[in-house]
Amino acid sequence: MRRLLVIALATTAAWGALGAQSVPAADKLRIVTSTTDLKALTEVVTGNLAEVDSMARASQNPHDLEVRPSLMVKVRRADAMIVNGLELDLWADVVAQGANNANVIPGAPGRIDASSGILVLEVPKTHVDRSMGDIHPVGNPHYTLDPGMAPAVTQNILEGLARIAPQHRAAFERNRQQFLARIDEAMGRWNKMLAPYKGSPVVVNHALWVYFLTRFGLVQVGTVEERPGIPATANHIVKLVNLMKEDHVKTIIAEPWSDFKLVERIAQEAGAQAAILAATVGSVKGTDTFLEAADFNVKALAQMLK
Ligand SMILES: [Zn+2]
Repeated sequence: MRRLLVIALATTAAWGALGAQSVPAADKLRIVTSTTDLKALTEVVTGNLAEVDSMARASQNPHDLEVRPSLMVKVRRADAMIVNGLELDLWADVVAQGANNANVIPGAPGRIDASSGILVLEVPKTHVDRSMGDIHPVGNPHYTLDPGMAPAVTQNILEGLARIAPQHRAAFERNRQQFLARIDEAMGRWNKMLAPYKGSPVVVNHALWVYFLTRFGLVQVGTVEERPGIPATANHIVKLVNLMKEDHVKTIIAEPWSDFKLVERIAQEAGAQAAILAATVGSVKGTDTFLEAADFNVKALAQMLK
């Protein structure tokens, strides 16, 4: 009798030590995302109810990920796959097929497109396809760079996850609201920081920043790339430098995987500054969360525009 009591107490103590929030690994949802931005935005929704893994690393250009068997292994046992959509990550389809996982193929309940319902910018007015080399054929896919998109993107993630785990809907919603409150608070700061530069012209290397710039009232007036994914010709560079001088452009934004030497040379010729911003969560030191990445980008830009 006494021994039984001891065991009961020990068991209670063990549960207590795990903490009320702890979820055994086997009970967690397994989620893969295509990008680290989506991983970060998914984790704020799931909290500790899921293991979330990104297929692209922070240092990789999510436009052209090489599909490797290791990615298919990652996806094989996933309950859900969250993709960026807008043709940024078409390779995710190849991975899902190769992983032979019916949970995450297009159309399956565990397949979540984070771009559902967002207002897409830079939709081509004429027909563009990949044979022409343009890698934004259905519009600009880089909406996760804009922290103001967080409510819509996390809503899409929540709705998708609630399809496969309806019992967690309330917890997801609570987590999401807490996160959005923090974004809201930060947005006030960011708006204030960039307010003095409203209307300022900015040049970018790849057209990654249009949602971000538009959010804060800045204007993308040119790109180093001739078109998305198409490198600059000598002629294009001459025109760009002239435009930058005429428009008094002070700033070129580049991404970590850009040809930064070229970007710096153009900036120098035009009397501007170039900087690498966090094109994905984790791609620059100190940007391991969605908030940190947005914060880094706003501060770096405000500094350059000064
Ligand atoms: Zn792009």
